[in-house]
Amino acid sequence: MKKKTIILILLILVSCLTRDRGLREIPTNQEHVIRLMRIIDPRLPSLSETDFLRMVKTLKGYIHEYLGYRVTFFVKADRDLLAFQKDTRYLKDTEKMQKLQQSLLNPSIEKDRLRLKKYISALIRKTDPGTLKAYVPEYEKHKQRMADHLFQEYTNKLEHILNIKTSNGTVLNHPAFRDMLTYPFWEIALQHLTEADFIFTNTIMADMEVDIPIYVILRYGITTGMVTENHFNSYQAAGVIFTMPFLSKDIFFQRERIEEIPESLLPDVIALYATHEFGHFLNRFRDYYNHKNCIMVPANDLNYQRWYRERKAAKCPLKHEKLKQF
Ligand SMILES: [Zn+2]
Ligand SMILES: [Zn+2]
Repeated sequence: MKKKTIILILLILVSCLTRDRGLREIPTNQEHVIRLMRIIDPRLPSLSETDFLRMVKTLKGYIHEYLGYRVTFFVKADRDLLAFQKDTRYLKDTEKMQKLQQSLLNPSIEKDRLRLKKYISALIRKTDPGTLKAYVPEYEKHKQRMADHLFQEYTNKLEHILNIKTSNGTVLNHPAFRDMLTYPFWEIALQHLTEADFIFTNTIMADMEVDIPIYVILRYGITTGMVTENHFNSYQAAGVIFTMPFLSKDIFFQRERIEEIPESLLPDVIALYATHEFGHFLNRFRDYYNHKNCIMVPANDLNYQRWYRERKAAKCPLKHEKLKQF
């Protein structure tokens, strides 16, 4: 038998053995080696090699400070986004992928836009007004027609992002790159990732979907990072951070960030945001929405500078429950 075949069989065996047991506790009394990999869309800005390594070093410190884990990062060679997609092509027709695709909508199809509108209306009826009040800017002005307002914001912002011009003149949403902006692509790619445990990519996840929680609606389908299950590594987890919302110089992002992140602070801010994802990855913590200064509260808008400042100012003393499953 070829070495590759043996490895594959072993991986499948490990995967079968760990799948149904729920998430194991990751001990804090030993050092953990985590494999990082960058996946680069060459059309978009990315951190320089020096800044990336600075970010990795800072992240190691923050993980110890905020999450209580000692980690060593093993940085793998960068991958090209299209090459990465090519490697994951075999996942395209899987049942799981097709199931996720059913919730994915096409913003340029009227029927799909209507589906989103109806979904938002139904979701708002089930949502506590306090949540909306805390998250929607100018809540009072919009509260009578909240569903319409959120639908408009969602579709306008998404359209803007998808049409951002990249350095080679193509739009972000160019057909060759379209899949890699969507949740189904990253969810399935992370579940099957074997060459690394955690990815940093300079693109963004921004898509139109139904069957998503109100918090994703409230940030208009934009995702900065996520962690999901992976049965091919000992962490039973894999994660990704999307750096485009931090690094893009496009006017849309400049406006949405509200407070500009000083250039010299970028690796630091990205490192602290990645720490949030490692709170899922290592501690198995879930997201919180109502804790103050909490590393486990995701950013509710693109003002990462404010999010960073609040978490540097103080730490959350409250208890955080652990997930049994991602
Ligand atoms: Zn989170
Ligand atoms: Zn907290």
